[in-house]
Amino acid sequence: MGKIKVGFGFDVHQLKENHPFVLGGVKLEHHSGAYGHSDADVLLHAICDALLGAANLRDIGFHFSNKDDRWKGISSLILLQHVVALIKEKGFVIGNIDAMVCLEAPKINPHIPAMQTYIAEAAAISEEDISIKATTNEQMGFIGREEGVVAYAVCLIERE
Ligand SMILES: [Zn+2]
Repeated sequence: MGKIKVGFGFDVHQLKENHPFVLGGVKLEHHSGAYGHSDADVLLHAICDALLGAANLRDIGFHFSNKDDRWKGISSLILLQHVVALIKEKGFVIGNIDAMVCLEAPKINPHIPAMQTYIAEAAAISEEDISIKATTNEQMGFIGREEGVVAYAVCLIERE
């Protein structure tokens, strides 16, 4: 077995009324949505940061500045493809990804299989190697007040 490395990612976005809500590449039907420079896909951003961290390639803001118009409104699935290419250039393949989304509403469980499909395609790995979990914040804090959404991810990468 080649050298294995672990990575961790975290992301947070504000929720705004009447704004699209893209999560794991899926457009959710909801009265509010995550706001940001790209499509504000908090799950994909946490996964990108976990992968970059594992390969010691800085963070998502280093590669995709929110002052760069190339990334304005872009699908984060494209950012994920870029990140996977970067870690591949460094000689790594993805072992697995485990992620957690923390939000009060809507329920994302029904959408998890579709998210796995999108992420598997963008990262060129098996859906079996992508775990997505969800929890609420028990109505506490900014997540509980539906002011924001948070995601965490860990991943394992291996030297080819
Ligand atoms: Zn983000």
